[in-house]
Amino acid sequence: MNYFPAFMRIRDLPCLVAGGGSVGARKTQQLLRAGARVTVCAPDVSAELQQLAADGMIALRIEAFTPELIDGQRFVIAATGDTAVNRAIAVAADERGLFCNVVDDREASSAILPAVVDRSPLIVAISSGGEAPLLAVRIRQQIDTLLAPRLGELARHMGRWRERVKQRFATLAERRRFWDRIINSPVAAHVLNNEPALADSGTREMLSADDSASGIAHIVGAGPGDPELLTLKAVRALNTADVVVHDRLVARAVLDYARKDAEFISVGKQAGKRSISQEEINALLVRLVAEGKTVCRIKGGDPFVFGRGGEEIDALEAAGLAWQVIPGITAAAGCAAAVGIPLTHREVARALTVTTAHTADGTEPDWRLLAGAEQTVAFYMGVRKLAATSAALIDAGRDATTPAVMIENGTTDQQRLVRGTLADLPEQARTANVKSPALLIVGEVAALARNSQLDTATSDASDETVHHWSEPATGTQSGARS
Ligand code: SAH
Repeated sequence: MNYFPAFMRIRDLPCLVAGGGSVGARKTQQLLRAGARVTVCAPDVSAELQQLAADGMIALRIEAFTPELIDGQRFVIAATGDTAVNRAIAVAADERGLFCNVVDDREASSAILPAVVDRSPLIVAISSGGEAPLLAVRIRQQIDTLLAPRLGELARHMGRWRERVKQRFATLAERRRFWDRIINSPVAAHVLNNEPALADSGTREMLSADDSASGIAHIVGAGPGDPELLTLKAVRALNTADVVVHDRLVARAVLDYARKDAEFISVGKQAGKRSISQEEINALLVRLVAEGKTVCRIKGGDPFVFGRGGEEIDALEAAGLAWQVIPGITAAAGCAAAVGIPLTHREVARALTVTTAHTADGTEPDWRLLAGAEQTVAFYMGVRKLAATSAALIDAGRDATTPAVMIENGTTDQQRLVRGTLADLPEQARTANVKSPALLIVGEVAALARNSQLDTATSDASDETVHHWSEPATGTQSGARS
């Protein structure tokens, strides 16, 4: 370690910024944010700094740097833009035993300034030791997206309760356990959701309860496959889980966001194979949460779209346990986006129906409703029943030439698109050997599907059956979508 990381309490202490340009102004603002008493010296100062002086926020010395200006200061930043002058300032600071940061000059600096994620009172500071400032900035951005916007409030909440927790728990180990539980509990969620009253009552309850832990299940949507389509909340739920209960469809790269020491339980249901039943999954969740575990129950797409998330929260609710649902991008939205199909589209698709061709009890849907014109219908779990589905839709009155597509493994790098019409898609899909998971989309908008690299089954014949309609004045059918 070439530098010693430390945070300086600089509130009300005198600091000198040498340099009156935009860099000097930026450094001045940073010092002001930490409450420093700033003097800026420069022969010329920008309008911004003049305004700060007029507002009484800083003192100005309209003069070139001289070493006496350093006397009495606690910290110096050299930002004159002139290497020789900056270095003279650094030498003068050094002679007086002061730390000095020289902007863009690591060698001359006795202190370097980190990239900062500010969730005050929580601050993350990142430094590359001056080797790669841009890398530090990049890491700052990544950390910034990972940390909840209101994380500072959580730190403040914990600060407010710190003394009472100290009184309640004698040992450090007990206190650590308590705080761990708070961070993983609904209390933290309440703080982050700006519900301070609930956060306080929850904390009070946990303090007065005997040491029995209180768990929570996060019922989380993992999105359609591409790990980058996870929500930030899903990543956070994975990060903090003691136990991850996941479906088979959830990608390894998604599960990698969990803690390495978390317990992983696969409850994958595979088409056709007997596996753990929904009742067993419900019972498992109830048991884990009752044991005080923070559980991340993560499943493909959205938990409330053919995800049986509703049954899981019913079971948790009945057992008096805490839960939270974190939505995900459902397959219809993810697959449609991946191939450029707008699910609703002016004049040709005014409704979107999300349904399944596969019902456990074998009941038939109302095909006449699904066959209605001007709607897009997305069929989940539709691979095995594709032929029957398309025949039933045609029977019920949807035109046999209606565009239809199958999207297999949408949004992943194994994505495949098979295009056709209601009449010929079953044959196309059979030829292409489409396998689950795949989504069937039926409707005029399916004609817009495109997949430049991976298109498998676009014959001239199926192109001829593509429906056309007059385009709205703005936008073209072939325009790039992303
Ligand atoms: N809760 C999930 C759906 C679970 S049902 C969601 O909201 O998306 C499983 C069905 O979803 C699959 O049979 C398939 O029809 C569809 N599906 C899920 N992921 C998919 C993907 N990456 N590509 C295509 N279809 C997918």
